[in-house]
Amino acid sequence: MTDAAEQPAPPTIGVDLGATNVRVAVVDRAGGIRAELRDHTGEDGSEVVPTTTALVRKLRDEFPGVSAIGVGAAGLVDRDGDVQYAPNIPAFRRTPLREALQRAVGLPVVVDNDANAAAWGEIVHGAAHGALYALMVTLGSGIGGGIIARGRVIRGAHGFAAEIGHFQIDPDGPMCACGERGHWEAFASGHALGRIGRVWAAAGRAPGVVARAGGDPDAVTGVHVGDSAQAGEPDGRALLDEYAELVAVGLAGLANILDPERIVISGGLVELGDTLLRPVRDAFERRIEGAEYRPRIDIVPAALGEHAGVIGAAARARDLEPGESGIWTK
Ligand SMILES: [Zn+2]
Repeated sequence: MTDAAEQPAPPTIGVDLGATNVRVAVVDRAGGIRAELRDHTGEDGSEVVPTTTALVRKLRDEFPGVSAIGVGAAGLVDRDGDVQYAPNIPAFRRTPLREALQRAVGLPVVVDNDANAAAWGEIVHGAAHGALYALMVTLGSGIGGGIIARGRVIRGAHGFAAEIGHFQIDPDGPMCACGERGHWEAFASGHALGRIGRVWAAAGRAPGVVARAGGDPDAVTGVHVGDSAQAGEPDGRALLDEYAELVAVGLAGLANILDPERIVISGGLVELGDTLLRPVRDAFERRIEGAEYRPRIDIVPAALGEHAGVIGAAARARDLEPGESGIWTK
């Protein structure tokens, strides 16, 4: 046996950059997290590079063999690893993030969109493992997505593909966070669930939900609706059924376009488990084209939870190693 065969491949570092927090983890080749650190990045994101660099240095003290760093960043990330625009991070406007981090930490860095990184994590180590065609949908305060086709993340011509929350369902619909009206995200995000809950509450249709919000119909959030539905209260269940229908509208439309073999749902809402996923699956089956004439498309919860981003980003970093296939080929 040679020395090389006895040396396990070095771990890589994954970075998950959100609006106000950064999470940095050392991840081994099996997708296992060896160590993880988190910190705040300031309200406007201006501390992203120094904060991330400090966390990376701490982890490298413990794991000096780390070979490369992958980053998943919120926003429109182009093929050079520049963050062109992030709606929730004011400091990210035409920001050369990959270059800045690479200079600061002295290791090869790849930067991708955070939802793409999470999708890649679920493909390599999670609920979409082995799928060649998959759709990843993150139901959180907004809606994010990743599209896998022929086993690769689809990024489009500029790196901006799979902004799946931002297609229009109703031009007269509620305002979306991006400034347009009636996008799917404005109907089916966690925030939207809260808005629907408040409409029902104001109409006197959601007594159980309002009780959970301290009796104030204006204070109802998606969490109150979810808790009520989980507890089996009729108003919470009915509200969640209406919400599930809106989730399924988008999923069925995307499935008609993409024909995935599996849809993986992640984000805060997926913690509701089958309370949410069962009505979503039912509505999806009613809405997808020719349901009885095509193989069933499984809708499953994500397996990696809040760690999908760092695990996927770390897996992307392996592409930077000699002999691997390069930054944008996967
Ligand atoms: Zn939008």
